[in-house]
Amino acid sequence: MRATLLPYGRQQVDDDDVSAVVGVLRSAWLTGGPAVAQFEEQFAATVNAAHAVAVATGTAALHCLMHGLQLRPGDEVIVPAMTFVATASTAAFEGATPVFADVDRDTLLIDGDAVVSLLSTRTRAVVAVDYAGQPCDYDRLRSICDNAGIALLADACHSLGATYHDRPVGTLADSTAFSLHPVKHITAGEGGVVATDDARLAESARRFRNHGMSSDARHREKMGSWVYEIGEFGYNFRLTDLQCALASSQLQKLSGWVSRRRALASRYRELLAAIPGVEPLRVNDGSCHSYHLFVLRLPVDQWSADKQVLFAALRAEGIGVNVHYIPVHLHRVMREQFGTGPGMCPVAERAYEEIFSLPLFPAMSDGDVDDVVEALRKISRRYCTVA
Ligand SMILES: *Cc1c(COP(=O)(O)O)cnc(C)c1O
Repeated sequence: MRATLLPYGRQQVDDDDVSAVVGVLRSAWLTGGPAVAQFEEQFAATVNAAHAVAVATGTAALHCLMHGLQLRPGDEVIVPAMTFVATASTAAFEGATPVFADVDRDTLLIDGDAVVSLLSTRTRAVVAVDYAGQPCDYDRLRSICDNAGIALLADACHSLGATYHDRPVGTLADSTAFSLHPVKHITAGEGGVVATDDARLAESARRFRNHGMSSDARHREKMGSWVYEIGEFGYNFRLTDLQCALASSQLQKLSGWVSRRRALASRYRELLAAIPGVEPLRVNDGSCHSYHLFVLRLPVDQWSADKQVLFAALRAEGIGVNVHYIPVHLHRVMREQFGTGPGMCPVAERAYEEIFSLPLFPAMSDGDVDDVVEALRKISRRYCTVA
């Protein structure tokens, strides 16, 4: 048993990250300055997108994506049931109705057949969520969306650094949202990015993050002008230069961190193969998984204890497991506003009873993985009925 709890995720901030932030603190621009544009350029190059727009959070990035659709009341946006609430709440904020698609049992990625069955004349977009860091079946989703004449959006808050048939996440949908929250691949404290090849969508996100203004403060200063135009309402979703400097510094370490996450995941897979009753999610051929999460399934019919008990038992061993996610259509606000409820997405609902996210972050040691596996071995001996 571990003396201290091993968390499921944790950021890494090195001395050079700290220096980058301090440099901005001593400069003329704390927000709206050159560090923002520099980060955006570096990020766009990293994910191979034509445009990147830095915003306050991953949720704000999703909100920009939804705003770019120019949704009207009654419009529908199809999202997977197994995701974070922000994938759906941002559609609701823009006046649309989120429609929940069930997921594939073995990957927990949005199920293409479920999407097809939910298409209606009011459907405006499908949101692909690259659950745990594995890209969705973008070829299938692209053909569904093209046939229906609707947009394909990506919630890639889990999948920075992943590729799909050698194409990086960030170019696979019409526009893509990333998060820079501390548990994600790189961090800005809080932060998000919109990536797109579409200049019109990038412009829309730039205006929306800055009150709907036609120009930003730095541009006006350069032009020696005070004039701006507000053609629509927007938010203050700006990311500061302090945060962008941190994010730029972190971005340089992305590929090393993704490799480390992948190595830790391989070690988990190898060692877990010997433990009865535990089932890692499947990785599709052609996908390079960037492992925001390592998700393990403990099928309910193979265990004598329920999730609550197993969760507590792992925590008692010092293993900071977590659960991603409570299916979004089960939340009270969704039931009340959109009439959703249990039974609508049975695969996601069943998965919720069985999934645990194991600790996974680049600074973890191989020995940490061994501790997690040992704790699982212990609870398997005690509670697994197929052992
Ligand atoms: C983290 C996350 C978000 C929200 O990102 P924030 O930066 O926390 O606002 C949205 N969707 C998914 C799938 C996420 O994991």
